[in-house]
Order: sequence, then structure tokens, then C-alpha cells
Amino acid sequence: MKLLEYEAKDVFRANGIPVPPTGGVISKVQQLPAALKRAGKGPWVLKAQVLAGGRGKAGGVKIVKTAAEAREKAATMLGMKLVTHQTGPKGLVVREVLVDKASRIAREIYFSVVLDRREARPAIIASAEGGTEIEELARTKPQAILKETLDPVRGLEAFQARRLAFALGIPAEKVGQFTAMAARLVQVFLKLDANLVEVNPLIVTDKGELIALDGKVVTDDNALFRQKELAGRKDPEASALEREAKKVGISYIGLDGNIGCMVNGAGLAMGTMDTVFLAGGSPANFLDVGGGANAQQVTKAFEIILKDPKVKAVLVNIFGGIMRCDTIAEGVLEAVKKVKLKVPLVVRLEGTRVAEGKELLKRSGLKMRLADSLWDAAKKAVEAVHEHTS
Ligand code: GDP
Ligand code: MN
Repeated sequence: MKLLEYEAKDVFRANGIPVPPTGGVISKVQQLPAALKRAGKGPWVLKAQVLAGGRGKAGGVKIVKTAAEAREKAATMLGMKLVTHQTGPKGLVVREVLVDKASRIAREIYFSVVLDRREARPAIIASAEGGTEIEELARTKPQAILKETLDPVRGLEAFQARRLAFALGIPAEKVGQFTAMAARLVQVFLKLDANLVEVNPLIVTDKGELIALDGKVVTDDNALFRQKELAGRKDPEASALEREAKKVGISYIGLDGNIGCMVNGAGLAMGTMDTVFLAGGSPANFLDVGGGANAQQVTKAFEIILKDPKVKAVLVNIFGGIMRCDTIAEGVLEAVKKVKLKVPLVVRLEGTRVAEGKELLKRSGLKMRLADSLWDAAKKAVEAVHEHTS
């Protein structure tokens, strides 16, 4: 899960990492005067709160000198569609704007704590050339990128922090402040079970102070069970359907195609999507009903799939391992009756008691196409879409 900049900065502040004075986020222009007041004397910086980088270049970061200018810029920014190189062409709608006191920048440094999967350890990536995208820097000037691999138990060692400070050209009298800040950023990374804590830029102000001017935190969803605060938070990237699915324990990710897929097991769900593509179709979603899916779960999955208006056919691909195929067939039948299916349905069952399961489906008299293999099922689903839409 990704945190918005202001959420990341709230975490930073709570952990003793310096951030600019802030007026908080606003979602309406009417909230602006109070926010400016809270931030202190101008100039201020208005920042679009979307989950994408590259906002600066796209018009999502504006420095404003007067309240009138702030009002004008905030009005434009709120509700605008921000297209950055990270959002894709569709862009993201700006619903919230962060109002910070503007900082005077002497230098911009890049600093991040990442999970280095190859080393299976956290690592710090830093560069004296902050402000620019690290990916861009890695391509054009890899020698400007510093890396310190961290011992997972010992964390950031003092000598590593100092080595970074010197390589980054931090002035001698600020090395202590830098090493403390780096250590706290590593603590945040560990405490939040993060995959990434990025500060770009970490600035040196005209007065020589170090401040996190931007913040990006990506946490590991697999650790949500022990991150109560994060778990209770609404994931801004999830669609309404994705949230609904999550509530009932179904993994669902909406996609652009028109074949709704209901599958048990994440691996089989991915295999099903690949096979649909191979057969010339395009899946409308990834959906894993889970290993022990019951009739209720299957019904709910159908409901979720069918709420997507793009769906022109449904492909059920279930392997009866823990759950027997006849039980699954009963679930499918119950669900189909309940949701009053209006698009073609293709069902492929495999596994324990598959013959009995298929027999139940056949005898039901409900309209559906039974498939004998995954390949057969994918082709039938693609055919069904063509018939249904032609
Ligand atoms: P991003 O483009 O989405 O990564 O947004 P950032 O928060 O990193 O801002 C982009 C750039 O805007 C920074 O690299 C700075 O150069 C500039 N910027 C942001 N805030 C301030 C500020 O308070 N003062 C000044 N002078 N520049 C700022
Ligand atoms: Mn940035």
C-alpha cells in the first residue's frame, strides 16, 4: 500500500524526521485560508496529493507568494487531472492538496531505504543529485548513486551513515543531523514493514538545515496483520469493487478486458488470465475466491464480477482440491440462480469428484458451456464474447 505524501510526512514528523511546517491538506478552496494560517508566513507550496511522482514537472507542485495567488492555484489544482510520467495517460484526479510552508533550497539530495531483494536486506540508496528521478539518474549517471546495504539485525551502522554523509557532501557541522535523520528513516522503514521509504528531495536549506521535502512510503500488505493503523486505512488506489471484494476475503483486481474470471488460487488465476490472452481474449479481472471457497463466497464473487459493466462473459475455472467439484458445482448453480446471470457462462472444473460436479451442472438445465480443459474454456469464453456482442 502506498501512502500519500502528507501521510508519509505525518509519519516522518511523528518519528522525529524534520519536515516543512504544514497547514495540512485541503479538499475545498474554502479550507485554504485556515491552512495558510496554520502553515505560517508565506511563501507557501501547494502540492497535489496523488500517488505518483513527477508532480513537479506536471504542474502538481506550485509555489505561491500571496493568499490570492494561493487561492487561484488551489482552485485550478483541486479536481484537475494530473498526468505525470508515472500515472499513465489517464492521469489521476487531484482530490486533496497539501499546503506547506515553502522552503528555501540550497541543495537537493536523493535518499531512500529500499528492500534489496537480491541481497534479502534493506539498503539505503542516496545521491547528491536529488530532485531528479532516480531511475533517470541510474541510466544516465550510475556512478552518482550511492548504496549502503544494511544488516537486518544491526540496522544502519554509524560508520555507514557517516560514509554516506561524506559522500553526499554534507557539511561537517551537519553530519550529526544527517546521521540521526538517516537512522530515523531506517527505523520508519522497519517499523512500518515498508518496501520503500523515499525522500526526494531531502534538502539542505539556505540556512543549512536538513528537511524531508517530499515523502513516499510503500508498505508491504503481507504485514498488514501487524500494522493495525495501516490496515484500517482506506487504500486510495483500490476501486470500489476491489474494496468490496477485500471485505469478504476475495482477491479481486479490476482489469480492462471483458471476460470476467472466477478462479480459486492466485497461480491458477494468473494462468487463466494468460490462457484467455492466448486464446485472443482479454480478462476483465483477476479474481481468486480462495482455497476453501464455499457457495456463499462463489455467489459474492459472481456479484462482484457482474458489477463491472465491461463483462461480456464469465469464465469459471475451479480446481477441486480441498473442496470437491460437486460442492463447487452446487455453489456455482446457487450463485447463477441468485444473481440472474445475463451474460454467457463457461465453466471448467477439474479435480476431486469432477464427473459428479459436471453431471450436476448438466442436469441443472441452466444455460452454460462446460469445458474440458483450460484451453477449451478460454476458447469458449472468447467465442461467447463474440456471439454475445455481435
Ligand atoms: P515530485 O515532483 O512529485 O517528486 O514532487 P516534489 O515534492 O519532489 O517537488 C518537486 C520539486 O519542486 C522539488 O524537487 C523542488 O525542486 C520543488 N519544490 C517543492 N517544494 C518546494 C519548496 O518548498 N521550495 C522550493 N524552492 N522548491 C520546492
Ligand atoms: Mn519528489
